[in-house]
Amino acid sequence: MSLATPSIKTATQPRRLSILGSTGSIGCSTLDLVARNPEAFEIEALTANRSVSRLAVQAKRFGARQAVVADESCYADLKEALSGTGIEVAAGPAAVAEAAARPADWVMAAIVGAAGLQPTLAAVRQGSVIGLANKETLVCAGALMTAEVAAHSAQLLPVDSEHNAIFQVLDLDQPDKVDRLILTASGGPFRTFSRDEMAAVTPAQAVAHPNWDMGAKISVDSASMMNKGLELIEAHYLFDMAEDRIDILVHPQSVIHSLVAYVDGSVLAQLGQPDMRTPIAYALAWPERMATPVERLDLAAIGRLDFEPPDEERFPALRLARAALRAGGTAPTTLNAANEEAVAAFLDERLDFIGIAAVVEETLEAHPSRPLASLEEVASADAAARGTARRLLEQRGREP
Ligand code: NDP
Repeated sequence: MSLATPSIKTATQPRRLSILGSTGSIGCSTLDLVARNPEAFEIEALTANRSVSRLAVQAKRFGARQAVVADESCYADLKEALSGTGIEVAAGPAAVAEAAARPADWVMAAIVGAAGLQPTLAAVRQGSVIGLANKETLVCAGALMTAEVAAHSAQLLPVDSEHNAIFQVLDLDQPDKVDRLILTASGGPFRTFSRDEMAAVTPAQAVAHPNWDMGAKISVDSASMMNKGLELIEAHYLFDMAEDRIDILVHPQSVIHSLVAYVDGSVLAQLGQPDMRTPIAYALAWPERMATPVERLDLAAIGRLDFEPPDEERFPALRLARAALRAGGTAPTTLNAANEEAVAAFLDERLDFIGIAAVVEETLEAHPSRPLASLEEVASADAAARGTARRLLEQRGREP
């Protein structure tokens, strides 16, 4: 199991944190918790892609030692915004990876997409404790990444709410007594939509998640249920669990965040409000717990919890992700890369919603799975899949 290493790295006070993707939804929630516990944390590095002003405000407010933008064209603006502060400034994808490798007690990996792979890997190679939100990293390079984690005695603490829930109720001393993992899914904004209705939905509808407030890409993934497919693959690698022992259960209220079924018939679940500050706090304070301002769960007021099986006909992304995990090798890398391209096209109004899974499926058909032996092969499989997906998008030829 990649997250369980024999020694628990003890916390120093204050803990020195680096946050990769600090300007995003997860990054901002992490800094919200840091702001409420100023004695407990110090900030080493903060990174963003292009959100210069937000990054500069964060870096000044939290006294970061370094602020980095991935997009080199933003360097001058960031430099200007932080002039006179003494905060180091850098730019470019390599600088983001270098920021991830700076000495820190804890690194939050919250960049969206496969762009998070190299920075997360840099933190892993430092033997860091990593709060892993960036699920795409494990999807596109799962076995290679968990091997790096083991080789460098790093620790991955799951931040994704479902995996964090499993982490909270998993008996790490008796992993062989786990029967099944059950990932819950809200079903997203189109849970009750027919395929015809889904064909007409807009990006604005897709990003308006009924329960969670998240970045645009993961919101679209939730709407297509590709997010649950990516989480299935993530769970396989994090918990070393076979694909056919990981179930998906639609639970529209998002109160039960996931469950673990044991061989004696017990099923343990973690419950809470759909607020990412709870799983982030669990990972931030681990192996202890910390207080959060998250609204308390009032089950009597909620009254009922509903469950239904997932529908792979209306949500083919689930079927594609399961098939990619079963195929192994380059298939999950291809799935992830094609999905990133298709979601970007949908958000840009170059593709209709149901076209997302279609582009992913056609890309997977064009790239039969091959063994994946190195991180270089991840990069080439990713690039090849993106090339095919872009060609397919052009052929579909919808004007923005
Ligand atoms: P956001 O889109 O809100 O934020 C993404 C962050 O990554 C931003 O800081 C962004 O910078 C940065 N970024 C984007 N592209 C690049 C790039 N090419 N290089 C370096 N940095 C980049 O995403 P979320 O916070 O919603 O999600 C982050 C990750 O966490 C995803 O993998 C998601 O699946 C996962 N996750 C998110 C949850 C949520 O509730 N939001 C829940 C569970 C998992 P900029 O602001 O400049 O664009």
